[in-house]
Amino acid sequence: MNMNTIDLRRLHVRPGEVRQEAVEVALEPFLLGGQRYESHPETVPVNVQITQATGTTVFDLRLHARLGGPCMRCLGFAEVEVDASARELYDPAAPSGDSLRSDYVVDDELQVGAWARDAIALALPEQILCRPDCAGLCPTCGKDLNVEPHEHVERDVDPRWAPLEELRERL
Ligand SMILES: [Zn+2]
Ligand SMILES: [Zn+2]
Repeated sequence: MNMNTIDLRRLHVRPGEVRQEAVEVALEPFLLGGQRYESHPETVPVNVQITQATGTTVFDLRLHARLGGPCMRCLGFAEVEVDASARELYDPAAPSGDSLRSDYVVDDELQVGAWARDAIALALPEQILCRPDCAGLCPTCGKDLNVEPHEHVERDVDPRWAPLEELRERL
């Protein structure tokens, strides 16, 4: 049994009818900026409401997921909670590419897995951080600034010594 799709023919929702479907979607890890973010647990419950109007079917998706992976600033463990909702329309008479003809409906099957994945990707914050004020890694020495807060005092070169510095560099 494929958990990631809903067979619309089997459901046979009649015009004016509203149906609720719960699908357990198995999520592959997300790759962001070269890092892996995994869903905990691996499967996410996805709620899909199917409303059949005349001609057009309306799909409303809702899900809650939790992803874990490296903090984008300090590489420590970070977790992000995602609440996503999305709507798709499907009218079999609409031309392909039309917004009334959802790309997630293929051969009378709603591709809940692919849709849920895209909805999560859209809902993710730009930065996944261990905490909002993560200090990150020191750009000079690479140490974790959360563990060891420090600054590097820049050595001021007396302008009068500049020619000498230049000379030293050339030697
Ligand atoms: Zn961090
Ligand atoms: Zn440093």
